[in-house]
Amino acid sequence: MSLKGKIAVVTGSTSGIGLGIATALAKQGASIMLNGFGDADAIEKERSGLAATHGVDVAFDPADLSKADEVRRLISATEARFGRVDILVNNAGIQFVAPIEEFPAERWDAVMAINLSAVFHSTAAALPGMKARNFGRIINIASAHGLVASANKVAYVAAKHGVVGITKVTALETALTGITCNAICPGWVLTPLVQKQIDAIAAKDGISEPEARRKLLEEKQPSLDFATPDQIGELAVFLASDAAAQIRGASISIDGGWTAR
Ligand code: NAD
Repeated sequence: MSLKGKIAVVTGSTSGIGLGIATALAKQGASIMLNGFGDADAIEKERSGLAATHGVDVAFDPADLSKADEVRRLISATEARFGRVDILVNNAGIQFVAPIEEFPAERWDAVMAINLSAVFHSTAAALPGMKARNFGRIINIASAHGLVASANKVAYVAAKHGVVGITKVTALETALTGITCNAICPGWVLTPLVQKQIDAIAAKDGISEPEARRKLLEEKQPSLDFATPDQIGELAVFLASDAAAQIRGASISIDGGWTAR
């Protein structure tokens, strides 16, 4: 599974699943462009720690993925810094929970921009270089919500279904090349994005945090256990490897059985 010498961009990699994926790719020898928001000192600690631990080149770009021109600039900045993009992991994402009629239009626009439109812009910007070299791996982090729906998550579910769609189109348009595009569809993974939802359940139902966790899992995830950022990272490593050359346009679940029901 060695990815020695490969160049990877992982969007939203200052936290959670993105950080797990960046770490797993670096562990296999890939150099990494990190991206995301957060405390500058904490990000620098992650960046230098990853580089030192795995002996790879790691840079950070603060592009705001809600803005199309910033997304495209992230790809050109990576090409300028590292020479090319071999692996593009579209991971950055946000959540907002409300019934449709109360869903703020501004939150709809933000979720669509970051969770869906950014995938289009980064893919469009990375493909010419990948095609010129006849190699690429595009890995889109969709969700169980790319395959099935839940109430009160209209923007997220629509965006993630869209990510599954763009994954298939990208795979078809690159089918005769050495570029592959696939989606990973996680169920519940215990990250800050999900912790916020657990805290909201605890507050709303007047229950403890462990009870709220259990409630969240029981509703959707038959294994009653979270998937981890490390596990998602290892799946991304596999999809980036030569062994996955003929996996194209697939949506691979890692969801404790969520979508098996
Ligand atoms: P997280 O909140 O821990 O991390 C999100 C990352 O995206 C952070 O690095 C954040 O800084 C970055 N980000 C947010 N807005 C950004 C912007 N405008 N520009 C650049 N970066 C931005 O969330 P997570 O749970 O690790 O989620 C990562 C991805 O996995 C998302 O696409 C999410 O939808 C998906 N996902 C998560 C779960 C889960 O259970 N946690 C399940 C399925 C899918």
